[in-house]
Amino acid sequence: MSHILPTYGRFPLTLVKGEGTRVWDEVGKSYLDFCSGIAVCALGHSPKVLVDAISTQAATLIHCCNLYHIPQQEELATLIVEKHVKLPGKVFFSNSGAESNDGLIKSARRYGHAKPQADGSPRYEVLSFNQSFHGRTLAGISATGQDKVKEGFSPLPTGFRHLPFNDLDALTAAIAPETVAIILEPIQGEGGVNLATPEFLRGVAELCKKHDLLLFMDEVQVGFGRCGDPMAWREIAPELEPDGISWAKGMGGGFPIGSFWLSDRIAPLMGPGSHGTTYGGSPLACAASLAVLKEIADKNLIENVRSQEAHIRETIAAWNHPLVTEVRGKGLLLGIGLDIEKMNIPEGKLPSIHLSAELIKSALPAPPAGPATPRFLPPLNGTTEEIDQALEIVRRTLDQLPGTGVRIQGSERQ
Ligand code: PLP
Repeated sequence: MSHILPTYGRFPLTLVKGEGTRVWDEVGKSYLDFCSGIAVCALGHSPKVLVDAISTQAATLIHCCNLYHIPQQEELATLIVEKHVKLPGKVFFSNSGAESNDGLIKSARRYGHAKPQADGSPRYEVLSFNQSFHGRTLAGISATGQDKVKEGFSPLPTGFRHLPFNDLDALTAAIAPETVAIILEPIQGEGGVNLATPEFLRGVAELCKKHDLLLFMDEVQVGFGRCGDPMAWREIAPELEPDGISWAKGMGGGFPIGSFWLSDRIAPLMGPGSHGTTYGGSPLACAASLAVLKEIADKNLIENVRSQEAHIRETIAAWNHPLVTEVRGKGLLLGIGLDIEKMNIPEGKLPSIHLSAELIKSALPAPPAGPATPRFLPPLNGTTEEIDQALEIVRRTLDQLPGTGVRIQGSERQ
């Protein structure tokens, strides 16, 4: 009997070893990992640069609290601001995506106090979007636009409202005197791999300017090269200048680290005592993240992400598979849209979860996104050969889904 709190419905897979894009289970079976710890292992498993950076730093200084100066934090913050965000601002280091978003939400509250409503009462409301996911803290689930994460946790922190994604009219109508910020994922990951349109992002930015609202990008899943440009919103509307950005996942390549950036306009509102964390930005975490971000730049992995995306799209389009309706996403965060009407999914199972379970049987862990979308998250340095192998597994799995009655030409080939 397990002594682990049963908060996860886990797939029947136990991984004990990884190298690059490959992982092995406890009986030595090998798998191609297109989950990457849910968009975390940006360089694949146990890459030498990361292992070396962690080992060297661990042997030197693992932890040093934020009461003192930490040179690795300075170096990482400088890299993030000057080479990646390229807008004036400041960084706070956390341990996870939810914490990073909590930091943004707290910063919005400060701004609402500094720039209150006409009657002098603080602005406080944060608008977010349906199908969004912003983390599992109380503020995170309040900001998240999915009911399933909130069940049984009321009363939730107030001051959040959710609107249809990509609907500028609904957003325009929703802005109220108490509204102070808008938070969005430029590409929704957990909610089904849904892209913000350029018109929507630009419209949101316009509304923020007009109503003096803060524009926050949740780049926890999409940031630092997963979707191409290290700032995923720049893949959609490059000229935008957000007021805050949150990250985690890929920035540590598997070592837990998160962060948020605030523009110089609001950074001064988060002075000494306003926010903190014991572990965030430890020398070890920052050394790991520095190694990952430098490797992404040195090996020009952004180029690999872009060319592999094109290759995946071309390959899937060439299948002309009757179950595949579209490929959504950017870079190496891609979701396969499925015609679920044509699929015979076992009673009570969600199509995306059923397909993820089938893919595991064929040695390809790939996580579900939303109820109907399987998601591809290979490492940013995944090779064409690995991607071809994985796509062939997907094609065979789709083709042989029990009850589909679908057989496409050439699908019997191994
Ligand atoms: N924001 C987004 C967009 C995410 O995808 C996630 C996790 O999936 C989070 C926030 C929460 O991150 P964490 O699980 O590190 O708290």
